[in-house]
Amino acid sequence: MDASKLRAETLAVHAGWRADPSTGSVAVPIHQTTSYQFRDTEHASALFALQELGNIYTRIMNPTTDVLEKRVAALEGGVAALAVASGQAASAFAIQNLARAGDNVVSSTDLYGGTWNLFANTLRDQGVEVRFVDPADPEAFRRATDGRTRAYYAETLPNPKLEVFPIAPVAAIGREAGVPLIMDNTAAPLLCRPLEHGAAIVVYSATKYLGGHGTSIGGLIVDGGSFDWEAAGERQPFLNSPDPSYHGAVWTQAVKPLGPIAYILRARTVLLRDLGAAMSPFNAFQIIQGVETLPLRMPRHAENAAQVAAWLAARADVTRVIHPGQQSGEARARADRYLSGGYGGLVGFELAGGVAAGRRFIDSLQLLYHVANIGDARSLAIHPASTTHSQLSEAEQAATGVTPGYVRLSLGLEHIDDILADLDQALAAAAG
Ligand code: PLP
Repeated sequence: MDASKLRAETLAVHAGWRADPSTGSVAVPIHQTTSYQFRDTEHASALFALQELGNIYTRIMNPTTDVLEKRVAALEGGVAALAVASGQAASAFAIQNLARAGDNVVSSTDLYGGTWNLFANTLRDQGVEVRFVDPADPEAFRRATDGRTRAYYAETLPNPKLEVFPIAPVAAIGREAGVPLIMDNTAAPLLCRPLEHGAAIVVYSATKYLGGHGTSIGGLIVDGGSFDWEAAGERQPFLNSPDPSYHGAVWTQAVKPLGPIAYILRARTVLLRDLGAAMSPFNAFQIIQGVETLPLRMPRHAENAAQVAAWLAARADVTRVIHPGQQSGEARARADRYLSGGYGGLVGFELAGGVAAGRRFIDSLQLLYHVANIGDARSLAIHPASTTHSQLSEAEQAATGVTPGYVRLSLGLEHIDDILADLDQALAAAAG
């Protein structure tokens, strides 16, 4: 069976796994083990020297997690993936695998609040400067680039603005300079495959749509395998200069016989080994269950979101609706270029009554859950100005698109009439 010819619906249930050879188990087993018996000392030495790829210790790899990694890599059109403990760990590792103190990264301003904090504070404290630029102008990435720029970073469908990122032009600017574009595709799995548009690396919070049931935190990094790290030369020192933690091996050279996986293998064998943010096998199992139904769920999330957006747009008490389907001009053109099969499951809207109305709306919801999450089977709502974005200054909030009366919805899989009924009564309470 040639996996490259299979469609997403088929890959979601098959990629990376075919019945356990020792037990015949069809479902992917949970390998809840810390470690693996080596055949002999020769085998152990070969594994540690990376002459042979195989199981050593679950902090670095695990057979259950391996299926998830292969499945998501296949769905994304990448060559390999690395599962980590959370989406935050995926974003941090994706950058720490390229940048050290004194280096910089150019990032879109349109980011999840947690990523903003990681970039603006924690990475900066570690000596990595993140330069924020307006994603509407791809050339801004080129202007912010200097000799120490190691990566570009953006989200495909960033909330709260929900304006799709110009992946192709920014990826092209980066490739010219030896700078890979890392795309956080958390909000648009299957709807967008950033690697097809030139991105080098894709990261996910698997906590959201991939898991889909709101049970498990996890993250993934997918290596597209098409970025020429070797040609980037001194621009990418972590991959092109001797690594003292691997007997002076140069990753792009040492990994060549294994395929174009230098980036992802270094992330696993250096960052996961040393920083330890591993996904538990149980969470990998849960996320595999989610991925199996992703092709069924994404269109339903998107359909419910589109209907909610249209319904909100017709209301007098809502001053603005944020949803790609409601956009026009450049933003709409990008949504139509990069997304297919719907505009995703997120909708934002602005209440005229500001913070007070936003809070009253949230406090009045009966069906939708008030949580700091997206991508659950259940519909969710949050008021970012008083929660996820409250640590940011007003200027930072404005840069990320959060205004006082902004409410974010993540539409689940319920019947649309039940969702609209709850929104209707909560809007009435907010106005009161
Ligand atoms: N990226 C995006 C777009 C997110 O929405 C989130 C979480 O909300 C993250 C990354 C972080 O993921 P996690 O919560 O799994 O650490």
